Amino acid sequence: MDFGLADKTVLVLASSSGLGRAVAGEFLKEGASVVITGRDADRLAATSAELERVAGRRPRHLPCDITKPEDIARLVAFASEESGSVDVLVNNAGGPPAGTFDDFDDKSWIAAFELTLLSYVRAIREVLPLMKKKGWGRIVNSTSSSVREVLENLILSNTFRLGVIGLTKTLASELAPRGILVNAIGPGRFDTERIRQLDLALAKRKGLTFEEVSAESFSRIPLGRYGDPAEYGKLAVFLGSEANTYITGQTIISDGGMLRAVP
Ligand code: NAP
Repeated sequence: MDFGLADKTVLVLASSSGLGRAVAGEFLKEGASVVITGRDADRLAATSAELERVAGRRPRHLPCDITKPEDIARLVAFASEESGSVDVLVNNAGGPPAGTFDDFDDKSWIAAFELTLLSYVRAIREVLPLMKKKGWGRIVNSTSSSVREVLENLILSNTFRLGVIGLTKTLASELAPRGILVNAIGPGRFDTERIRQLDLALAKRKGLTFEEVSAESFSRIPLGRYGDPAEYGKLAVFLGSEANTYITGQTIISDGGMLRAVP
């Protein structure tokens, strides 16, 4: 399939590790010009070099804290510097802290809102004039399988990710006449460093081995394993490409069959 990405500039937020890095890698493999970002400048530079090894092409990178509007504006200006535009925006962010209702005060709720929802709004606001000028654009908002089935002990994430779905659905209608397609994707459980750390912590808490915790998790996934982040990247590539001409306003979960709920 021709994804038509060779002449496209793709900006992936929160992409110095995990799912964001994998998304960037898959766009690079399809010939796109990719810009990656994260707060830790050293890790970002190392990821850029690593992606060049894996994908054969080097992404451009700029450190940015996506909770800061001025950083996002600077990032979009940097991303559009070479081609004059950002054609594809993949919104992604670190996860807000785990906890239940009693754990969080207003400050925590506001911080989670800024990280999980407002960062996406701000990035979209910055790229839209560029996409509208071209009459073409793709926006892919990464969320979580929790938008279909809430996860325990993750009240901040469960709340604000649903806001991303409302944003996605509404923008899809508003922007369709301008040739801009907007979709959301959500991971079930993918084998990233973050998930490994969570499983290690759980193993410690329960007095189990890491392998025992993983096996228990795998048993709840019909495909019997965690996803490879590259598999998530391929989903983002399709939705963010010229191959996608008629899917907008949708939320697509990639979870190996884990969710039993009917959408
Ligand atoms: P990860 O490996 O921890 O990656 C998070 C990325 O976000 C890093 O590159 C990090 O870089 C960047 N980041 C965090 N805060 C940032 C900020 N304020 N500004 C800019 N960059 C920031 O996590 P992941 O496993 O890929 O997960 C990505 C997202 O998907 C998270 O929201 C997670 O909750 C969600 N999710 C993941 C899974 C899964 O299976 N992996 C499942 C459901 C939901 P710096 O720290 O250097 O900034």
